[in-house]
Order: sequence, then C-alpha cells, then structure tokens
Amino acid sequence: MRIAILGAGPSGLYLAYLLKRAKFPADIEVIEQNPRDATFGFGLGFSESALEFLDAEDPETHAAITPAMEFWNDSNLYLKGQQVRIDGMRYAGIGRLALLRILQARAQSVGIVPTYQKAITKPEDIGEAALIVGADGANSVVRRAHEEAFGTTVKLLKNRFAWYGTHKKFAALSHTFVETELGTFNAHHHPHASDMSTFVVEMDEATFFRAGFDKMPQPEAKDLCTKIFADTLQGHELISNNSIWRQFPRIATQRWSVANCVLLGDALHTAHFSIGSGTRLAMEDAIALAKALIASPRDMPQALADYESARKPVMIKLLNAANTSSDWYEEFPKHMQLSPIEFAYSYITRSERVDMERLRKSSPEFVAAYETHLAKAHKH
Ligand SMILES: Cc1cc2nc3c(=O)[nH]c(=O)nc-3n(C[C@H](O)[C@H](O)[C@H](O)COP(=O)(O)OP(=O)(O)OC[C@H]3O[C@@H](n4cnc5c(N)ncnc54)[C@H](O)[C@@H]3O)c2cc1C
Repeated sequence: MRIAILGAGPSGLYLAYLLKRAKFPADIEVIEQNPRDATFGFGLGFSESALEFLDAEDPETHAAITPAMEFWNDSNLYLKGQQVRIDGMRYAGIGRLALLRILQARAQSVGIVPTYQKAITKPEDIGEAALIVGADGANSVVRRAHEEAFGTTVKLLKNRFAWYGTHKKFAALSHTFVETELGTFNAHHHPHASDMSTFVVEMDEATFFRAGFDKMPQPEAKDLCTKIFADTLQGHELISNNSIWRQFPRIATQRWSVANCVLLGDALHTAHFSIGSGTRLAMEDAIALAKALIASPRDMPQALADYESARKPVMIKLLNAANTSSDWYEEFPKHMQLSPIEFAYSYITRSERVDMERLRKSSPEFVAAYETHLAKAHKH
C-alpha cells in the first residue's frame, strides 16, 4: 500500500514521521515542490499552552523543538506612542525554517526523506496510491481538484499583509499600531531566534490603495514600511523573504476526505495568524490522522471518518476564535480611536476566549491598570 503525502511543511512532515514511527504498514512518500531549505515567512509564535499537546503526545519531538524556541512572559501593545503591557501572556517563538529542519530530522530518523523540487499540478501526477494526503497548504492542489466535493469556502479578508523579518530584537510578543498621513498600519512582531524577529506588517484596504502599495515595487514598499515603523525598528532594516502583499484566505471545508484524498493543515482550514495557531493545528491534525489510520490500518473509509469526527469539534472552536480575531483586525482603524488601555482590553478579549475572570488570574497587573482607568473615567 502506498500513501503519498503532498507537501513537506509541518503537517506533511509530521504525519509521515508519526506513521513511519508507528511502523504503519504502507510505503510512505512525501513530495515537496520547493528545495529542502526554502521557506516563506520568518518566525512563528505559539501560546505557551499550545505546545502542551505535543509534550503529551510526543515528548521526544517536543524536547527537540523547545531548545530552539524563545520564551517571553508579557505581551506589549503600542498605540499613539504609548506602551500597554499585558502581563502573564506566556508565549514562545521559533523560526519557521528552524522548526522545519527539526521536523525534517525527526522524519529522517525514522527513514523518511521527502522528494524535493517536484511540483505536482494535479493529483493524477502523484500516481496510484491508497491514500493521497493534501498537506500542501492554503493553495492545495488536492483540495482544488475536488473543490466542490470537499465543500470548500474561501473568503479573502480585506486587509493586506506582508511577512518581513528584522534583526531588531524585541522584548516580547508585540503589536504596534500607527496612524500616519498615508493611513493606518499595524505590525505583529516578536523574536524567534537570538538575532532575529518576525515582523508582519498589515494595513486596511483603503490605506493600501491610498498609499499606492498596489503599484509599488517590493523594495520600495519595504523601505516605506521601514519608515512607517521607524520608532519601532530603531534603525534596523526590514528583511524580505519574497514578502509580497497578500490577503489572508479564510479557508474552510465541509468534508475532510473525498474518495482516496484527505486534507490536513492549511489545505483543510486556515486560522488567522493573529492567534498564532496554524502550525499547531497542522501538527494536531497530523496526530489525529495518524491515530485514526493506525487504529484502522485495513479500513481506510473508517479511518478517514474517525479522523474527521474526532477532530472536527475541537477544530471548529479554534477556527471560530481565529475568525473573531481576524474580524477585529479587519476593523482595527476603528478600534484605534480608543484610549491605549481600552484598546488593549478590546484587543485581548477580541477572540472571546479571554474574559475578565480569566484575565484577573493571568494578568493581574493589566487588570488593575484597566480598572483604575475605568474608575477615573467614571468620576469625570
Ligand atoms: C503572516 C503569517 C504568520 C503566521 N504566523 C503563525 C504563527 O505565529 N504561529 C503559527 O502557528 N502559525 C502561523 N502561521 C500559519 C502557518 O504558517 C500555517 O498554518 C502552517 O504553515 C500550516 O502548515 P501546513 O504544513 O499545513 O502548510 P504549509 O506550511 O503551507 O506547507 C505546505 C507545503 O506544501 C508544499 N506544496 C504546496 N503545493 C505543492 C505542490 N503542488 N506540489 C508539491 N508541494 C507543494 C509547499 O511548498 C509547502 O512546503 C502564519 C501564517 C502567516 C501567513
């Protein structure tokens, strides 16, 4: 039996590793269009609890990943030149390439070596396989070949973003919002290595066109963003890695498998980067699919049905949180009219996963500052 996995991103590599480690009775092949060390973007952020699943399921891989991570305790928000610190927001960051190299090494340790630089344009090019796994990201060829049967919906958000890096080392997970004569911008930035930080620049659609980013060559756009965030970058440059302007695609599918094709990771669903969960979801999908296949090695339809029914309810909850978070970002120029501390409260409660009770426990200093502000505002 042959299992062909399209894509050597986090979901594809990790699924191959898990199946091979369990000595799953199949030839497992991973096909990747890019060279081994090519990747898009810079760093990834995870909430501290986000990697607990990995520690519980696969302590060896967890132990391989954690030394490559940067950890921090607070989240900093900057608005109107003021900083609001939200204490107790325990997060970790890792370079996307560093994570891929660790997963490649894990896969290699059990005998999986992906075939690189082989682009597949239609599933038939993969050849005969008992199972074709679409681990091929948001533009999945596997999903697009059966778009209707998967019940796919794709909604492009209006904001534009570009994923840059910088050598400026930030103290924590940070979000900077600025208003200039060109319009409103925000940056999601955090360290992901000892000498690198990730820096995602985002703007609303009106600003994108008004400022002329739609017609601006990439190097000029990068320089302009460096100027816009000069106070934040403090003399450091932005670094590009094919950092083009994109609209985030909100992808969802009603069915997770069609005939002998199954999806996972970004091919199946996308979770907006503002909640930093896409990679974790991709790896959790891989765990769920591997478990279902291992439980029913000779009954593929059963395994695929089990994968979907076990994973979907958890997934829907997280995707709802990601969607409410991205809805907040789609309106960020409006929220920027709030005072910095009210803005921070709106920000931290945006995905409706955090309420006052939870905040009191996790971020007592922030809540005290917020309540002092409310009491003062009430008096006036
Ligand atoms: C700006 C931004 C910031 C993000 N920040 C975070 C974050 O902080 N934390 C987090 O957890 N997640 C973050 N994410 C999300 C994260 O990058 C994805 O959720 C994650 O990479 C999904 O993994 P995947 O393996 O499903 O897909 P991918 O990582 O997209 O991997 C898919 C692979 O398939 C290959 N492929 C595609 N098509 C073909 C083909 N036709 N033939 C062969 N190979 C193919 C690709 O080259 C790629 O290697 C962010 C995303 C963006 C856009």
